[in-house]
Amino acid sequence: MEDWKTRTKLVHSGIRRSQYGEVAEGIFMTQGFVYDSAEAAEARFLEAGPDEFIYARYGNPTVKMFEDRIAALEGAEDAFATASGMAAVNGALTSMLKAGDHVVAARALFGSCLYILEDVLTRFGVEVTFVDGTDLAQWKRAINKDTKAVFFETMSNPTLEVVDIPAVAKLARRVDAKVIVDNVFATPVFSRALEQGADVVVYSATKHIDGQGRALGGVILGTKEFIRKTVEPYLKHTGGSMSPFTAWIMLKGLETLDLRVRAQAATAQAMAEALQWDSRLERVIYPGLEQHPQHVLAGHMLEKPGTVLSLDIKGGKDAAFRFLNALKIMTISNNLGDAKSIVTHPATTTHQRLSEEQRAELGISPGLVRVSLGIEDSDDLIADVKQALDAV
Ligand SMILES: *Cc1c(COP(=O)(O)O)cnc(C)c1O
Repeated sequence: MEDWKTRTKLVHSGIRRSQYGEVAEGIFMTQGFVYDSAEAAEARFLEAGPDEFIYARYGNPTVKMFEDRIAALEGAEDAFATASGMAAVNGALTSMLKAGDHVVAARALFGSCLYILEDVLTRFGVEVTFVDGTDLAQWKRAINKDTKAVFFETMSNPTLEVVDIPAVAKLARRVDAKVIVDNVFATPVFSRALEQGADVVVYSATKHIDGQGRALGGVILGTKEFIRKTVEPYLKHTGGSMSPFTAWIMLKGLETLDLRVRAQAATAQAMAEALQWDSRLERVIYPGLEQHPQHVLAGHMLEKPGTVLSLDIKGGKDAAFRFLNALKIMTISNNLGDAKSIVTHPATTTHQRLSEEQRAELGISPGLVRVSLGIEDSDDLIADVKQALDAV
């Protein structure tokens, strides 16, 4: 099983069949499990065996299948599935930090991640320093002997800045700080974050893993020691576990993950190339283009530079809105990684909460549109974008 390739793992890893030998993974829609005797209950509470479960907040056979399958894909020793991507980010950070600890994080973060670092952790006495994630000198200056964790998104939302995992990990290792990576934009198919030096990898499974816009979910991956001794006690007692039905959706999502993200990334590359010199655009942001500032780094670190690109449309907010409203195939929404192509105007939606200065600092201009490519025909999608630009 260890040497299975990605697509085989995504279909077969982690399977647990009941006595009925079902083909599709069973949905164990149960909160609890019965014990054959009082003695058996006592023994299981003392130490549960591999096929023994106690309560769905602690673990469940369907959830376990999802955890084992994604761990096999990622090459992680273990995984803990969560109710959402944010439960995963919060669980990974909060389970390991205490008052007096120091965290260094990249500034360009998903809004809710920023909230956890800026508003939640600081309330409990954790000190947080923000840096420009692409500037190694800033990481070096900020990491000190009290630093217990560094946190960043491999590729940031929506400006797709790429953080150098091996280089940041090397700096973190000098002070024994854990490297926690939110790897959503990189995807588990294109990234080898653990091999490159990350200690803990976190996903919002809501995005590419489900990939069909159905359910919220998340997962934390790391060593058996970290997952079982640090993450599991925190999550099983605070209630952020994944439901069995969600785990089943995510298992089915994993089966087709590789096929979907490869098609999406191919379309992203084709669209970026088709639009890169378009005079109606200020810039096309995609790490697969040579003019992207981290193009070379992305080429070393990621098999493909993701399924999302951003377009900065000349004419600011008005032009961006005209563009969005003229699209015929792509839909306006704020998910990403979906089978359906989705466009977002970050300045007025996902990043509305930030001040104008903060948005400017992050490169989120009024004309910026984030495009998450789906699995539709790529010629149709490129034609859709071109006709919408004509309408601007
Ligand atoms: C969506 C997202 C999250 C949060 O995930 P949810 O499943 O919505 O809770 C965290 N980080 C990144 C980079 C995301 O895109």
